[in-house]
Amino acid sequence: MSIPDCDVLVVGAGPTGLTLALQLLSRGVRTRIVDQDPGSPKMSRAIGLQPRTLETLDMMGIADRLVEIGHRTLRTSVYVGGRRRLGIDMTAADSAYRFILHLPQNRTEEVLRTRLAELGGEVERGVELVDLVQHGDEVTAALRDVRGHESRTSASYLVGCDGAHSRVRQLLAVPFEGAPYPFEWLLADAELDGVASDDEVHVYWGSAAQPLALIPIDGRLWRVSAPVRADRDGAAPTLEEIQELVDTRGPGGIVVRSPETLTCFRCQIRSTGTYRVDRVLLAGDAAHIHAPTGAQGMNLGINDAANLGWKLADVVTARAPGALLDSYGAERRPAAQQVMAMTDGMVRFILDPSPVRRALRRAIMPALRTPLMQRRLADRMAQLAIAYPDSPLSRPGRVRGVPRPGARMPNIRLHDGRTLHEALRAGLPVLAGPADGLPASVLVRPDGYVAAVGPQAEGLTQQTRSARVGT
Ligand SMILES: Cc1cc2nc3c(=O)[nH]c(=O)nc-3n(C[C@H](O)[C@H](O)[C@H](O)COP(=O)(O)OP(=O)(O)OC[C@H]3O[C@@H](n4cnc5c(N)ncnc54)[C@H](O)[C@@H]3O)c2cc1C
Repeated sequence: MSIPDCDVLVVGAGPTGLTLALQLLSRGVRTRIVDQDPGSPKMSRAIGLQPRTLETLDMMGIADRLVEIGHRTLRTSVYVGGRRRLGIDMTAADSAYRFILHLPQNRTEEVLRTRLAELGGEVERGVELVDLVQHGDEVTAALRDVRGHESRTSASYLVGCDGAHSRVRQLLAVPFEGAPYPFEWLLADAELDGVASDDEVHVYWGSAAQPLALIPIDGRLWRVSAPVRADRDGAAPTLEEIQELVDTRGPGGIVVRSPETLTCFRCQIRSTGTYRVDRVLLAGDAAHIHAPTGAQGMNLGINDAANLGWKLADVVTARAPGALLDSYGAERRPAAQQVMAMTDGMVRFILDPSPVRRALRRAIMPALRTPLMQRRLADRMAQLAIAYPDSPLSRPGRVRGVPRPGARMPNIRLHDGRTLHEALRAGLPVLAGPADGLPASVLVRPDGYVAAVGPQAEGLTQQTRSARVGT
């Protein structure tokens, strides 16, 4: 049996691939990460890190670095006919991070790359995956560098984190089911004069059927986002056009200036039916894409990587059988479907111009303002509501006063003074119990979800001593 060149080849160094490489390297897995992009400056796409993603990054020890340089956004206010009718208040979220952290995606990626370097890793830039073949216990990949030189490399596993147009997905012939939306979005990252507060997202529905969103990026720059009918074929807007949209759809008196980005994009809602074909897996935008409404996509990808990282590490080091990897798709596909349904619902709620839908919108807004609904909305936006109760890894059992198996475990303080997230930075499960102020034992997986509660949790830990979940 030949030894592959590396344990895991990560294709794509966007937020998903970088997070996965960090997860693997921090557990001592021999990892290569390649990206076809030679390092050219990119337009920043995502700007929102949700509370659950910040928790995930805290378990990796890097949330503080991001929070230090990001901009806290506390709520989204929706104005109809000039009056504030609805707010989604992130301060109601059940997390220490009661805000969405706004930071341009390229700066988030910079922080992830810095951590990668600290762990001895590096993105191989200008290296494109052009082919892959699975045989026996390994995957052989054909890579092409910027000079057109092709080489072959082998890995025990390959993960396609290569975005919406994923070559890996195409080579696997995995369908990407879905459709484009009948809208294009115009975006401008620019300075704005005349907006009331920069700690919230402002969404305006004026007399125009289509809304306008003003999203603070960093205290200086704003993202102006406005859907329009899909009839411009991707033509970028001018500053004058953006100003006109802000004048007609906004509250009046707002001046747009010094744009850094003016762009138009068409978005789609698509996903794969599977996340794994033998030794090749898909994560992030390669497996699911949807509208940017609600700032969810990058967050889903980062959390896909956190779910897959510890499982892949256990499998390649032979501490768990390959079947553990099936739980990745079993858990993350429903999570993506849930988020996609939410963003699709938001698109329809916001953009459907029919008079019936508009009347319905007005009718249900008061119900959305109750404290219970506020908390639910915040937790769903924050991706804190994602749970894996039906996962094969969630052991049956329920104990009053502790989260159910499959649920997210809150970041409690442990008896030794560390927080749960700090303890999870070692990359292993944690058994918490009465000494930590809990009414029963709880076995927490390395990604911060509950695996088992009560005697089940203790039994599992004793069985494995080093507490490998899922073996
Ligand atoms: C305008 C806009 C606004 C958005 N706003 C938000 C937001 O606020 N919040 C949010 O969560 N999400 C947002 N998103 C979505 C977010 O940008 C994506 O979900 C996120 O970038 C997905 O990360 P990824 O790592 O999976 O893929 P990508 O970021 O697309 O990275 C894929 C990488 O793979 C590389 N690659 C591709 N093919 C190959 C190959 N054959 N070989 C080697 N490398 C390859 C590419 O060069 C790229 O670097 C927005 C998207 C858009 C378009």
